[in-house]
Amino acid sequence: MSRYDLSFEAVVELLDGAPRYRADQLWEGMYRRYQEPGSITVLPREVRARLEAEPALASALREERRVSADRGDTSKWLLELHDGARIETVLMHHPRHSTVCVSSQAGCAMACSFCATGQGGFTRQMSVGEIVEQVVLAARASAESGRRLDHVVMMGMGEPMANYANVLDAVRRIVGDIGIGARHVTISTVGVVPGIRRLTAEPLQVNLAVSLHAANDELRDRLVPLNRRYPLSKLMQACGEYVEATHRRISFEWALIDQVNDRAADAAELAALAMPLKAHVNLIPLNPTPGYPAVGTPPGAVRAFRDRLTSYGVNVTVRKTRGQEIAAACGQLVVETPVGLKPRRGVAAQTAS
Ligand code: SF4
Repeated sequence: MSRYDLSFEAVVELLDGAPRYRADQLWEGMYRRYQEPGSITVLPREVRARLEAEPALASALREERRVSADRGDTSKWLLELHDGARIETVLMHHPRHSTVCVSSQAGCAMACSFCATGQGGFTRQMSVGEIVEQVVLAARASAESGRRLDHVVMMGMGEPMANYANVLDAVRRIVGDIGIGARHVTISTVGVVPGIRRLTAEPLQVNLAVSLHAANDELRDRLVPLNRRYPLSKLMQACGEYVEATHRRISFEWALIDQVNDRAADAAELAALAMPLKAHVNLIPLNPTPGYPAVGTPPGAVRAFRDRLTSYGVNVTVRKTRGQEIAAACGQLVVETPVGLKPRRGVAAQTAS
């Protein structure tokens, strides 16, 4: 249990005897000003001293390392959780907005063949507080550099839909308490159909991103093993129901892999899935990982693939790879083991860069 796992009622109880507005001040300091409970100076000194010693208000994240790239516009944190599990969080500043890419599980059990996190295996689920505190960390760092964090993507380590209840509780706090617009929050999935169905029924205006990577079952079975459980016909049916019920735009993520999923036939198959749903396609050249031999599609072939999709009428964006040199790009989040420490079970021993 950590500070962002507590409900407001639990905070009121912690401040036993203090007027209720003190709980409001503590909540506001933690969620809107990203402050340490002991540094919220509107609270009386003796209350702050008590809060500093309160185990339930401990931080969930211990920063092991922060590295930066792109002239400081991309930062990656290596964070240790209370039990020694480790995760990564990435903050990206763009000219008009700032986005944090949040981990939802320590490791991942989905075993996508091209993904560094998947190659490292699953460690454990993350709690609501552990997920929310990554956003607070990035919001504080953004504020310190004069920026405002305004986008959250659940695309870090883990499959968000495999930790559905905690991810959704975290999203409610990110939207309701931190104040980031629901339309600026994106939940990704490699195709957990029951999760998409549950999200369809939520009264939340968040975005859904489906990491597709292949548009026929034969190839997708190889790239995304979960496809054997939820093949494309079932996945597309769930996506269709989501779009129809929510009237929200869905996006398909496509890591372009040289000679694997970047051929003319792949573009045609992808267009055939995207067009009926009016899905937006995001193309991201694959980042190199040590456990997967293929490389990303070269720039000329990326443009050709994009143009082919456009000719079919698909809305498509080529995403810039950010932070490749610090292994902070998509499919690269894997906890490296610092010199002198043994790798933990399920955690890869080296970085993907
Ligand atoms: S791509 Fe996503 S779901 Fe697949 S192994 Fe990597 S983190 Fe897990």
